[in-house]
Amino acid sequence: MLEDIKQRFAKAGIELTEKQLLQMDTLIGFLQEYCKKVNLTAIRDREGIIGKHLIDSVLPLTLTEVQSGAKCLDIGTGAGFPAVPMMIYRPDLRFTLLDAQQKRTVYLQQLLERLELKAEIIHGRAEELCRKDGYKGGYDMVTARAVGSLPLLLGYACPFLRKGGRFAALRGSAEEEQGEVQKALGKLRMEKVQETCYSLPKGDGRRLVVFERS
Ligand code: SAM
Repeated sequence: MLEDIKQRFAKAGIELTEKQLLQMDTLIGFLQEYCKKVNLTAIRDREGIIGKHLIDSVLPLTLTEVQSGAKCLDIGTGAGFPAVPMMIYRPDLRFTLLDAQQKRTVYLQQLLERLELKAEIIHGRAEELCRKDGYKGGYDMVTARAVGSLPLLLGYACPFLRKGGRFAALRGSAEEEQGEVQKALGKLRMEKVQETCYSLPKGDGRRLVVFERS
C-alpha cells in the first residue's frame, strides 16, 4: 500500500524513508476518514491527495534552501498544507500552523497526535497574530499555499519574519499582476530573491516565489 506513495514521490525525484512513507499513508487515511464528517478539502481520492497535496507540498523544499532547525509559520494552512508534509519530510523544521477556521485547527491537533509530530497550532488571523509578541519578527520562514493574492500575502508574511527571513509563496502557474506585487514590495522591507517554475509529475504548472526581508 505504501508502494504507490513511494513510486509517485520517486517520480518527482524525492526519496522517502519507511517512516516517512508510513506517516504520509497515515495522513491520507486520516484525512479521508475525517472528510466523511467535516469538509476540509475537495481533493479526497488517494491519488489526488498524493499528487496535489503531498508532493505539491514537499517539492518546494527541494527547490530552495531552508536552514536546519528553521522556525517556520504556515499561513492559512487549512488541512495542513504545505506544513504537515513538509514536517514529515523535514522533521528538523519547527512549524506554527495558523488558520482562521477552527474546524481546521481541531483537525490538525488530532492529525499531529496520530503522526506523533509536534507543532504549535493557532486558530486566528495572520493580520492579528503578527502584532503579538513572540510572533512578530520571530520566524526564519513563512509559507502559504492557495491563500489570497500575492500582494495581500506579502503584507501578512513580512511582519512575522526576522531580518533575513524568507517568505516562500507556493503559487499556480499563472503570473500575478507584477505592478501590484511591486507596489506591495515598495511598502515593505522585502525583495524577491527567487522565482522557480516547475511541474508536478502529472504536469500541473507551479511557481515557487521567494522573498527575503531586509
Ligand atoms: N493552505 C491550504 C492548502 O493549500 O490546501 C489551505 C488553502 S484554503 C483555500 C485557504 C485557507 O486560508 C482557509 O483554511 C482559510 O481559513 C485560511 N485563511 C484565509 N485568510 C486567512 C488569514 N488572514 N489568516 C489565517 N488564515 C486565513
